[in-house]
Amino acid sequence: TDFGYEKVAFEEKAGRVADVFHSVASRYDTMNDLMSMGVHRVWKRITIERSGVRRGHKVLDIAGGTGDLTAKFSKRVGDQGQVVLADINSSMLNVGRDKLTDLGLCNNIEYVQANAEALPFESNTFDCITIAFGLRNVTDKAKALRSMARVLKPGGRLLVLEFSKPVNPVFSKVYDEYSFRVLPKLGQWVANDPDSYRYLAESIRMHPDQETLKHMMEQAGLERVEYTNLTGGVVALHRGIKL
Ligand code: SAM
Repeated sequence: TDFGYEKVAFEEKAGRVADVFHSVASRYDTMNDLMSMGVHRVWKRITIERSGVRRGHKVLDIAGGTGDLTAKFSKRVGDQGQVVLADINSSMLNVGRDKLTDLGLCNNIEYVQANAEALPFESNTFDCITIAFGLRNVTDKAKALRSMARVLKPGGRLLVLEFSKPVNPVFSKVYDEYSFRVLPKLGQWVANDPDSYRYLAESIRMHPDQETLKHMMEQAGLERVEYTNLTGGVVALHRGIKL
């Protein structure tokens, strides 16, 4: 049946995503800096600024991987607050836990292995949820967005930081060349893992554009959804509120 075929395709994608992140976990941070030329740090800083997170807040960083956002939130929420770093992949989560522990951040962070599609938290738990460069790896994005909306408190914010569609067509061409020619080569030279970086380029091209993602967030029950293009739309930061 159609459904049966779809289920196989779903499982294939989940398996592939798992392979990619088990394989890149130990080199993830270095590769991130290299491939984005350090710019991912700026995108993440802007995400933190737009989050509105304050002392005492409870934050979920889903698909949090090696914990860049979690580290920043941990300092913001202070001793009275809490940050949950959640990821489906144990290798990424282990690298994240080691890194944050080395940074001396341990009072207010919890580590949870979880699938964004079925979050193991009570409804109305978090003041803010972030998913950075994670949603495009999730198989059922609508389900994940609904799950995130459920565990947000009323008034809470969801921020989605993700690759998107460059606004300028000329720049878009250059960017495509970079993604499909340069990225897999970098992956090969630096990490001896061209397949993982080919997956990266493909997943970026397949991901919904700005308006589509905005609509998906609204469908999941979020309100006042808006987005900001960063680096000419290479990345977009979407924000929605649960009212
Ligand atoms: N948020 C981190 C950052 O910005 O550096 C890590 C991003 S990394 C590109 C994507 C992460 O999404 C990986 O750690 C991967 O394991 C995780 N992931 C993929 N599918 C997931 C799912 N269904 N639920 C939770 N995490 C998932």
